Amino acid sequence: MGVNLRGRVALITGAGAGLGREHALLFARLGARLVINDLGSSVSGQGASASAADQVVEEIRALGGEAVANHGSVTDPDDAAEMVSTALDAFGGLDIVVSNAGILCDRSFAKMSADDFGKVVSVHLFGTFNVLKAAWPVLQERQYGRIVLTTSAAGTNGNFGQSNYAAGKLGLVGLMNCLAIEGKKNGILVNAISPGAVTRMTENIPAGDVGPFLKAELVSPAVAWLASEDFVDTGIILSSFGGFYAQVKMFEGAGKQFDPLEPVTADMLAQAREQILSLEGAKPVQPGPLGDIEARLRQIGRL
Ligand code: NAD
Repeated sequence: MGVNLRGRVALITGAGAGLGREHALLFARLGARLVINDLGSSVSGQGASASAADQVVEEIRALGGEAVANHGSVTDPDDAAEMVSTALDAFGGLDIVVSNAGILCDRSFAKMSADDFGKVVSVHLFGTFNVLKAAWPVLQERQYGRIVLTTSAAGTNGNFGQSNYAAGKLGLVGLMNCLAIEGKKNGILVNAISPGAVTRMTENIPAGDVGPFLKAELVSPAVAWLASEDFVDTGIILSSFGGFYAQVKMFEGAGKQFDPLEPVTADMLAQAREQILSLEGAKPVQPGPLGDIEARLRQIGRL
């Protein structure tokens, strides 16, 4: 039967434009019933308009799909609760949440005000928190859930002028890592997309010759796969840029284990610089705070 979302109810935030709209149209084609949330604001988060969400709902209905609009802001916990109750009222359930709504307010750090920083983190990080907080008990009750967060290469890799955005986007990865652990026992899988697409948000960022290849419709199949029953992993970041798809992961180097019962000086670390900073033999980080420490202490005979 292939990857499909038949019978599933999905809430997509920021689905009135760009990537969110593309995800919504594909989800509808794959059989999902949708709550199309969008505040209808500008790229920098100014203003509001119901038409963004309403138009996408119309497009989906024209395709023969089922969708209802929600015009709330993800930054308002009451609006987030309403997004979830809209799904329950219209379709009797909720299976999938794609947290996609976002804004930009780029400035070099020297010019970044606390307001610029807070506004962007508020939409990406607190907005996602608000929506997931409202959806979580419903998914727990159903013992099923697929959550797709939207991170960014700006967060995982860094980018000039995007300290607010990158902080919010990488904060989401921390959120995902914990929810992936907490959701597992209730069948709730939490993953993230790290997209690259020319939308109104990115159209002024120079992309040179590659711009025409960065199509939003190439990102949506990755989001649909992450949101489907077929995707059984959790805590994965999938990057999707111009038809390229790959897992993005943090790794820890093989490092150097000193004897923890002996003093360690900064000088000793400086002398072991190469070994400590080497990424040869690096391994993906493991869930939980302790990592491989037990195995390493065993290796040096301390356990
Ligand atoms: P976009 O500006 O086209 O769409 C974002 C949508 O979110 C808009 O329709 C906007 O009205 C809505 N929105 C903004 N604030 C909201 C709020 N408080 N509540 C509800 N809706 C709100 O941008 P896009 O490029 O489609 O971006 C979608 C997501 O993908 C964002 O989270 C963005 O950070 C992320 N992203 C995009 C790219 C890219 O290359 N386009 C790269 C990395 C990450």
